[in-house]
Amino acid sequence: MTKIDVARVLNKIIALKKETQTAFDEMICDLQNLLEPFEPFEPFEAKSEIAETTDEPKTAHFCLAEFKCRDGTAVPKQLYKNVQSLMDKLETLRTVLGDRPIYISSAYRHEKYNAKIGGVKDSQHIVAKAADIRVKGLNSTQVYTVADKVFYDGGVGVYDGFVHVDVRTKKARWDKR
Ligand SMILES: [Zn+2]
Repeated sequence: MTKIDVARVLNKIIALKKETQTAFDEMICDLQNLLEPFEPFEPFEAKSEIAETTDEPKTAHFCLAEFKCRDGTAVPKQLYKNVQSLMDKLETLRTVLGDRPIYISSAYRHEKYNAKIGGVKDSQHIVAKAADIRVKGLNSTQVYTVADKVFYDGGVGVYDGFVHVDVRTKKARWDKR
């Protein structure tokens, strides 16, 4: 094979990989939507009462269970405040994106878990201020463009297939595509 042939094959493989990845992302989102495990019902009138009797973070489309560590460890109570700030921003992002469901692939990580998966030491995930997200029907570049505005004073990192957002109250941006 000539170099041109090899380049042609390589380009084909890269294009195929991108296509497959997008298809998988879509499938994951679709299945997630079918399950709808976290979609809350319209709140009863007692909503304010519930809010007063529990300090669990919650918004219209997000609940605490979505933010727990991937190994099943619950978010510690002292970090609830951080989760609430993060949820509020995600709720705004969801609205701005035209009410598209946001799938959270990773949010809180306790230190040991973070180390195990090779996360950076001062990761915002450890303090439950960060989430890695995918949005149904949008690629990570499209999500990044909007998250950049919504999380204006926080962290936004774009990856091949997902976007990291956090509420560190200091602007940070990175591109790992
Ligand atoms: Zn992240």
